[in-house]
Amino acid sequence: MVRVQRKKISLPEREGKHIIHETPRIGISQCLLGDEVRYDGGHKRDIFLTDVLAPFVEWVPVCPEVEAGLGTPREAMHLAGNPHAPRLLTIRTKIDHTVTLQGFSQRRVKELRGTDLDGYIFKKNSPSCGLHRVKVYSEKGHPGKQGIGIFSSAMQEAFPLLPVEEEGRLNDAPIRENFIVRIFCYRRWKTQVQQQRITRGIIVDFHARHKYLLLTHSRSHYHDLGQLVSKAGDYTPRDLATRYGALFMDALKIKATVRKHVNVLQHLAGHFSKQLSTIERTELQETIQDYHQHFTPLAVPLTLIKHYVRILAVPYLLDQVYLNPHPKELLLRNHV
Ligand code: SF4
Repeated sequence: MVRVQRKKISLPEREGKHIIHETPRIGISQCLLGDEVRYDGGHKRDIFLTDVLAPFVEWVPVCPEVEAGLGTPREAMHLAGNPHAPRLLTIRTKIDHTVTLQGFSQRRVKELRGTDLDGYIFKKNSPSCGLHRVKVYSEKGHPGKQGIGIFSSAMQEAFPLLPVEEEGRLNDAPIRENFIVRIFCYRRWKTQVQQQRITRGIIVDFHARHKYLLLTHSRSHYHDLGQLVSKAGDYTPRDLATRYGALFMDALKIKATVRKHVNVLQHLAGHFSKQLSTIERTELQETIQDYHQHFTPLAVPLTLIKHYVRILAVPYLLDQVYLNPHPKELLLRNHV
């Protein structure tokens, strides 16, 4: 069964003066939403996804095994053979469902092209949905943790820019924040550039607004993107957008670190620190250093910086996506 779940969501939300969060559309392994589609008739509901993230995204649930007609309950399966081209076998009776799942995956991927996905969350360890280190059994029955699920493999091949993650890895606060930054950025890129009448000016503006966010991920990517934008005249707008989009999404795959955030916080402070009193400047530096020493989360210095950006009306910074990359209700920066 193909099911697309749509919800009315209170977003878009106007966070700062100029930043609007549009609702990302996220593909998801259906069992993670609490639907009883697993081989044993159970589910793997993930509370963060169903109770915290759900109000801010639109889910597109997929259960490859059920949609391919294998039914629920069904015999458990695993991957076996060559880790680069594994077979999908039932564990007890050794029935080979590889062709069924591969055929289904090709059809479903084609359908998903029309749904404008902004990200995908896969169930870890699944021979159909797992993204990293899925067990592949040798002929002698020994497990090796090196495979990728049949459906998740087809998805990655078809959507190379799509942010993807496993639900287990989203328990790690920096990985979680990074993934959610990526899905909101991908949505923003598509709605503000790709789905517009593309002009070089739109891309230049997009790049300027993402400057500090990019710097927390990869200085070299930021530099390369700047070079690309400066040579905008060498490309057609469509070609420029394709090159920029690929490099932009590649940059965001690189995890932001405390050291890179501290650098960016210092740059931001440099825009207005001359307008602060000595006491205010000292207090701001202390909050940045406390974050650097891991005494406080990123939210603390950022809140103070956002306060000054607003009251001193620093126009260039008001536009920076870095200050509001995702809905504040998710509290993601209270944990990194
Ligand atoms: S892991 Fe994938 S195939 Fe298995 S039950 Fe969940 S959605 Fe279905």
